[in-house]
Amino acid sequence: MSSRMIEPMRIAAAAVAAVACTACVFEAPDAGRIDRLYVPPAETVQIFSLGRGETFGGILDGTISANEQALLLMAFREHASPMRMREGTEITLRFLKDDEEIRGIDVALMPDETVRLHREPLGWESELIETPIYVDTLFASGEIETVLWNAVVMNPVLSGLPFADRNELIDDLDQVFQWQVDFSRQIRVGDTYRFVFEREVRPDGSMRAGRLLAAELVTSGTPFHAIWFDPNGDGRGSYFDLEGESVRRAFLLKPLSYRRISSLFTNSRYHPILNTWRSHRGVDYAADAGTEIMATSDGVVTERRFDGSYGNTILIRHPNGFQTRYAHMRAFRNGIVVGSRVHQSDIIGYVGMTGLATGPHLHYEMLRGGRHMDPLSVDLPAGDPVPSDDRMRWLDEAEVRVALLDGIPGAGPVRTLVVDAEIQDGQTVAAGAAPSGGLQ
Ligand SMILES: [Zn+2]
Repeated sequence: MSSRMIEPMRIAAAAVAAVACTACVFEAPDAGRIDRLYVPPAETVQIFSLGRGETFGGILDGTISANEQALLLMAFREHASPMRMREGTEITLRFLKDDEEIRGIDVALMPDETVRLHREPLGWESELIETPIYVDTLFASGEIETVLWNAVVMNPVLSGLPFADRNELIDDLDQVFQWQVDFSRQIRVGDTYRFVFEREVRPDGSMRAGRLLAAELVTSGTPFHAIWFDPNGDGRGSYFDLEGESVRRAFLLKPLSYRRISSLFTNSRYHPILNTWRSHRGVDYAADAGTEIMATSDGVVTERRFDGSYGNTILIRHPNGFQTRYAHMRAFRNGIVVGSRVHQSDIIGYVGMTGLATGPHLHYEMLRGGRHMDPLSVDLPAGDPVPSDDRMRWLDEAEVRVALLDGIPGAGPVRTLVVDAEIQDGQTVAAGAAPSGGLQ
């Protein structure tokens, strides 16, 4: 998982939902801190943090002559560009005690990567020091008292993780369960969650959330599971349920992130503008104007036009006789034309209120064989299951991950897989931080 900045929109949306922490069940397992390296006692150090707009040279000015800076930067360039240092990069100037002359400089490019510069008789030399990252697994569980976002972000087990990472874990859960559970509509107070993920711990004690390995969400009494499986070990694996069926579905549950559903599918509805009763053969999602609209499945765009009361509308044809319609758009996405091939989750346009609409919303329809269906209640076929060639490996790996989940207090034991493989010591593994070597 790449660490990425939090999208302000997401935070804003998530923060709208109210507060409260939840079941504070565990102590966080101790990460095991490794002492800082390379700090001989006979030195004094000055530590700088690179400010916005500041340069490496700027920090050296006044301490090192321009001539020597040129030599130093030349040595530095063997490992990194001095022009491309992040804001906040830590630069340590090292002096011998009682000596004003710098003898060395450490530039911490990343928490686990430092360029060390030494002063030598004929100039400067550099080396790259990589410090080891420790990876373990961590778990969290809880009950939802208000909304999932709060339950996870406020979970004390996760408090050592950067806020962005906690936020990203929720994003991961949302991604993993997006075909099964609509987080904005289906999560209820009293629902429970538990999940296991990898965590990277760096020498300075900082940590980062890694891949979600196994997760369970029990909503309105129905459990949903997602177990990571990467048959080729290339990081391009996927999530499967306990039976080895893909968690993916041919259609997304919803084509956008919305504020509320303003009209459900019905055969009879009072129309506020036309002043009549008529059927509403789609779902209306109220959302801010400009919200991105996604194709809910792979297909080909067969209509893209202004269509009377529908306003700006896109119709997509999908395999097996399915079609989806997206109406009242403010604008189409650039490049989307009749004949465009789209993939599931591709952005096709933006929420608006063109045509007959009292406020910005997306009117979404799903049809099969030309007949309208209720998108919120249609039962959709699953994606490909675990390939039969990989079945034995899947059973082995899933067993370990399910055991991890099972060791966490939650809704109850996850149903044990029926396998020949010996069950690992789930209790011990799950009772604390476990080395992830066996879980790769
Ligand atoms: Zn509508």
